[in-house]
Amino acid sequence: MRTPIIAGNWKMHKTVGEATEMVRKLDELVADSPVEVVICAPFTSLASLSALGLNKVKLGAQNMYFAEQGAFTGEISAAMLEDVGCEYVILGHSERREIFKEDDELINKKVLKALETGLKPILCVGETLEQRKAGETENVVVEQTTKGLAGVGAEQIRQVVIAYEPIWAIGTGETSDGNDANQVIASIRQTVAKLFSPELAQEVRIQYGGSVKPGNIKEFMDQPEIDGALVGGASLKVEDFVGIINY
Ligand code: PEP
Repeated sequence: MRTPIIAGNWKMHKTVGEATEMVRKLDELVADSPVEVVICAPFTSLASLSALGLNKVKLGAQNMYFAEQGAFTGEISAAMLEDVGCEYVILGHSERREIFKEDDELINKKVLKALETGLKPILCVGETLEQRKAGETENVVVEQTTKGLAGVGAEQIRQVVIAYEPIWAIGTGETSDGNDANQVIASIRQTVAKLFSPELAQEVRIQYGGSVKPGNIKEFMDQPEIDGALVGGASLKVEDFVGIINY
């Protein structure tokens, strides 16, 4: 049985004060949830969130660089994230791929470094609207999954979470339908099975992401292949995010 995992991606939102206020409340409100709950906050809030001594909510970052340390102005290492109490790190989000031109090779280096350091990557994959219209969805997610996981060991794959996020559904209010997302996620799982083994593929958690809200989460969580959600906008308000976690 895979434990569901619902993660909030706050993107570039919230000051330290706003972040601590919300996470303190969230930690109490979801204390008894069977779902694994993660908040991926901006770097600036992570140390303060960690200092709250949270019981339930786990912390994640939204990006990192693969090098150990050195002259990489503006970057943050995996060890620095571990040091401030992160357990997860989102890698390969479509905004990183599109705006910051990250490619599969770079994302793969980050995935390997995160795992080596003891962080659990949330590897994002997903197609653009043009790719979907051209019938390329499956090819795109299979390629991104294969390249993103290159060199990952069989003993490491259980630590990886994959998020299927169709780019056209992120922040747009458009969602994939549950059935369709389930099929794409099944093909991602088959890819993991080919790369590792069918048994290990059954252990890897694969989330759906893209305009998830309290009103549509159930449609996704009811699908057999979908193990949780990566939530952007609706993770910024405690009532909405709690509504999603309590689907
Ligand atoms: C995301 O940023 O990963 C995301 C899914 O955003 P939203 O929920 O706002 O579509």
